[in-house]
Amino acid sequence: MTDLPYRDPALPVPARVDDLVARMTLPEKVGQMLQLNAKDGVTRLIEDLHVGSVLHASPERLVQAMDLAEGTRLGIPLLIGEDCIHGHSFWPGATIYPTQLGMAASWDPGLVERVARASAVEISTTGVHWTFSPVVCIARDLRWGRVGETFGEDPYLLGEFASAMVRGYQGDGLADPTAVLACAKHFAGYSETQGGRDASEADLSRRKLRSWFLPPFERVAREGCRTFMIGYQSIDGVPITVNQWLLREVLRDEWNYTGTLVTDWDNVGRMVWEQQVCADHTEAAARAVRAGNDIIMTTPQFFEGAQEAVARGQLTEDEIDAAVRRILTLKFELGLFENPRRPDPARQAVSIASSEHAALNLEMARRSLVLLANDGTLPLLDEATADVSGRAVAPAGAAPRRIAVIGPNADAPDAQLGDWAGASGQADWLPDGHPRQLTETVLNGLRAVVPAGWSVSHARGCRIAEFVPDPRGPLLPDGQPAADIVVPARPDPALLRDAVATAEQADLVVAVVGDTIGLIGETRSTATLELVGGQTELLDSLAATGKPMVVVVISSKPQVLPPSAVDAAALVQAFNPGMRGGRAIAELLLGLIEPSGRLPLTVPRHVGQQPVYYNQIRGQHGDRYADLTQDPLFAFGEGLTYTDIAYSDLRIHTPQVGPGDDVRATVTLANTGRRPAQETVQIYIRDLVTSVTWADKELKAHRQVELRPGESVDVDIVLPAAVCTLVTADGRRVVEPGSFDLLVGSSSRDRDLLRERFTIG
Ligand code: BGC
Repeated sequence: MTDLPYRDPALPVPARVDDLVARMTLPEKVGQMLQLNAKDGVTRLIEDLHVGSVLHASPERLVQAMDLAEGTRLGIPLLIGEDCIHGHSFWPGATIYPTQLGMAASWDPGLVERVARASAVEISTTGVHWTFSPVVCIARDLRWGRVGETFGEDPYLLGEFASAMVRGYQGDGLADPTAVLACAKHFAGYSETQGGRDASEADLSRRKLRSWFLPPFERVAREGCRTFMIGYQSIDGVPITVNQWLLREVLRDEWNYTGTLVTDWDNVGRMVWEQQVCADHTEAAARAVRAGNDIIMTTPQFFEGAQEAVARGQLTEDEIDAAVRRILTLKFELGLFENPRRPDPARQAVSIASSEHAALNLEMARRSLVLLANDGTLPLLDEATADVSGRAVAPAGAAPRRIAVIGPNADAPDAQLGDWAGASGQADWLPDGHPRQLTETVLNGLRAVVPAGWSVSHARGCRIAEFVPDPRGPLLPDGQPAADIVVPARPDPALLRDAVATAEQADLVVAVVGDTIGLIGETRSTATLELVGGQTELLDSLAATGKPMVVVVISSKPQVLPPSAVDAAALVQAFNPGMRGGRAIAELLLGLIEPSGRLPLTVPRHVGQQPVYYNQIRGQHGDRYADLTQDPLFAFGEGLTYTDIAYSDLRIHTPQVGPGDDVRATVTLANTGRRPAQETVQIYIRDLVTSVTWADKELKAHRQVELRPGESVDVDIVLPAAVCTLVTADGRRVVEPGSFDLLVGSSSRDRDLLRERFTIG
């Protein structure tokens, strides 16, 4: 078989693809388009259904599947896909970084690119070729269970981060043995839920898609992201899987995207059994292929359905061939025919959970933390230094302190890792999650870094939620076993008493609250955003002790906080900060590091403020509900430092520019406090008069600068006038000549922004 042309690496890829496709039978081609769940028995998948790809393969099943594929008639290697979305989450002991939302709080795409690169180095040693990451959905209604998988609410920031991840995963090109295929998902508009409900009909016009949802996808398409995953939602009655306008006209024709498209989980089958828009699997298969899908995820019925569609004349074999060609091209470009990229224990030994990756993870976790309130209680040490082990050394003569670390997330590894990691439910081979010692909780972190002589006590205080059998019965309507459901845990008086007693013995309370795995992810949207279980009662009781309290929120998404948290001495937000998150939080509290994270989305005061994202379209009738302000609790871009940064003297050097010119400006920043800072300079545009209603302000750029105490720097801003766009009523993105405000400052709040005018002529 080695002398067959498709096996000859010296031939160009298109020639190899031609040769191979010509040798394949229709069942082999249809099978090549299938990506099935390795949990369902790899022998049948490969020998009977000829699948081209599997996902969710445990380390053992993965090797078995690769062996079987090698022995097939044509020996076409498998493409192995997995959701390694913040590290190789399902490889026991691999490095798990903060989730996308946590990473986004760094506002540092360069750092996120390094994380994706390091992830790819680990992933590529395990036999996985393709990660279903990054998520390019834009956070809208925060009740949606998948907000933590996003980079937040701003299309510009999303595009920057997603592109950075794509560069990181795909490395120097697919021939690089450490490259992993990236997958931009979920194309497009999946996050525009109704009431936060997952996978509901999305109420989206084409203009709205073009305004906010499509730009980051277009950005990653241009970045060379090799695959796109199609979402779950439908728009205007059309399941996105068969939305010809998006999949063909926009993606292929307008953007010239040549990558490979994969459906989401059983999207093709769901058109039959769930959305009921296709009479049978034959029709569903024909429509899905016609719309441009290449790989069909977890719809085994596609195997018969697509063949039947060809037999009935609803689909031509040429249409199947086009998809198969794209899949095979990927496999040839990855070099899988020469080297199927099997798991490599030697490379695993040096890269999985390496100390270099652990250090990068700590850096990422530190940068992901957002300080939202502080009455001066933090940092706990004014001038902290650390010894070689990282333990803080208190200044001579400082009195030792007693810290009580209290709350359900104080020592909760799963809450730190978040969704798509270890025991979060998708991988049946990791029932107990990752090795416990790899995750440093806040309790672990504080014990490791408080100065010698200080004490750290701990109490849980309450539980958040618990799993119970679905009261509707053990089976779903389609006969599948029903998963347990999550219910809020009832306050536990004994735990509460213990927590209050622990607080009373301390000088300072660190209360760690938030959400938990059962409350996040697919099909787990929440009706409210309030702290679940006994957490509010716990915070109220701790506040009532009169002890100074620092509240740390470890959660997948913003929580609506009770007054006892909002009015606490300090408040820190950590969006699922990963394995080293607890250590980073402890360092932040002590003052061993400076807070630098900024909110990548808006934090509401009340769930009823949804949606509360900052870049709302200008409307009428003010900014109040009758019973509440519409002002959020914390705005997009907010985040404190331990010092004071003064912005002044914004000057525009180009008050009048043409549409092809750059707007140039300078702003002066001064660190007037006593500690260093990494400041994120945010650059927004306000288009003063628009032919259609448009967002009042939009982030267009940002810069990060480091400032020593007392230091002053001039920060130059260069903004192409071409980014000052809006989308017209008929869906064209244009720059409209006229006056604009350049807004520069430390957050999206008007009070934090300097303003100068320029004109595009
Ligand atoms: C999710 C995707 C994920 C896929 C494979 C789907 O249910 O929506 O984000 O990549 O499952 O696990």
